[in-house]
Amino acid sequence: MQSKPQVLELRTDLPSRLRKILLPAAHHILLAPFTTWRIGGAAERLLTPHSIEEAAEMLAAARGEGWPVFFLGRGSNLLIDDAGLPGLTLHLAGSLQWLKFGQNTVMVGAGVYLPRLAATMARRGWTGFEFLIGIPGTVGGAVRLNAGIGAGREISDILKSVTVLTPELELKTLTAGELGLGYRQSHLLNFPRWLVVEVEFHLQAQAPPKELQANLRRIIQQRQAKFPPEKLTCGSVFKNPPQGPPAGWLIDRAGFKGKTIGDAQVSTHHANFIINRGRATAIQVKTLVADIQEAVWKLHNVHLKREVVFLPDDFQG
Ligand SMILES: Cc1cc2nc3c(=O)[nH]c(=O)nc-3n(C[C@H](O)[C@H](O)[C@H](O)COP(=O)(O)OP(=O)(O)OC[C@H]3O[C@@H](n4cnc5c(N)ncnc54)[C@H](O)[C@@H]3O)c2cc1C
Repeated sequence: MQSKPQVLELRTDLPSRLRKILLPAAHHILLAPFTTWRIGGAAERLLTPHSIEEAAEMLAAARGEGWPVFFLGRGSNLLIDDAGLPGLTLHLAGSLQWLKFGQNTVMVGAGVYLPRLAATMARRGWTGFEFLIGIPGTVGGAVRLNAGIGAGREISDILKSVTVLTPELELKTLTAGELGLGYRQSHLLNFPRWLVVEVEFHLQAQAPPKELQANLRRIIQQRQAKFPPEKLTCGSVFKNPPQGPPAGWLIDRAGFKGKTIGDAQVSTHHANFIINRGRATAIQVKTLVADIQEAVWKLHNVHLKREVVFLPDDFQG
């Protein structure tokens, strides 16, 4: 992957800065309210960086202390363990919030909420961003797995480049071509310690804002009709297998619609969704996920891959 990284120069008064930076870290903050599933234990330390430099200082501090680091966007695609997260969690929703228009592109901070980006671009008359209205995550969370709502409506269709900050405090800019983008796939998944800080999108054709806003309303209505009415979900739990029927169909055929473990329930509306009926725990969801994978394997000989991230499990080591 790319090339010519810029190493961030931190300020020379770093040790005293670091103490200041770590001071406001909230300790043992319950993370469930920061996720759409409303599940998960506490973060040992939680910090929100307000700039790329601040994020770099936080990463440097964590490295100095030997803490593991986790990234949390809008928490709409992850399951946080009941035991919570050790070390330092960087909360990106509400931080890194900029939109800078260039001649043919727009640079967007990784913390920007996708529906807000969709609405802003529609208001300004730029086409191509409308599909983002239905994805309740941040730009950073979305780019890692090439979020989308179907063929021709994925992040990869409008992406020009991504800038990441590595644990070595290098800023690297990777072009869309270097990212190996596919269905819920990018090379960024192999680098879970890279923090996405900024994303550059191509500007597409212009159209009357009223037309684009009508489009947004249409997409919202279509999604409301398709998705379970219950609110506490993380969207699709599994990726659709590359060949053959979608994950929801396979799970339905395996008899899992409505199946419940504790307060975790496979949606009766759409079998690729697991609902938190109120007090579901991470272990209940994980057990349901494992049971589904086993049943689908036995019945259909298909290994369902998770789309949703388990933290810290998926990032150990
Ligand atoms: C109701 C509902 C509908 C959904 N519909 C769709 C859909 O149609 N299509 C779709 O693709 N997805 C969908 N999703 C899933 C989810 O919204 C997307 O995957 C979204 O892009 C996740 O962004 P996030 O900020 O919430 O990430 P989080 O859930 O906070 O994090 C997900 C992963 O990304 C990492 N991460 C977050 N921010 C960064 C960053 N800046 N740099 C590096 N890593 C980062 C986290 O560490 C974690 O591993 C849906 C979810 C819900 C709840």
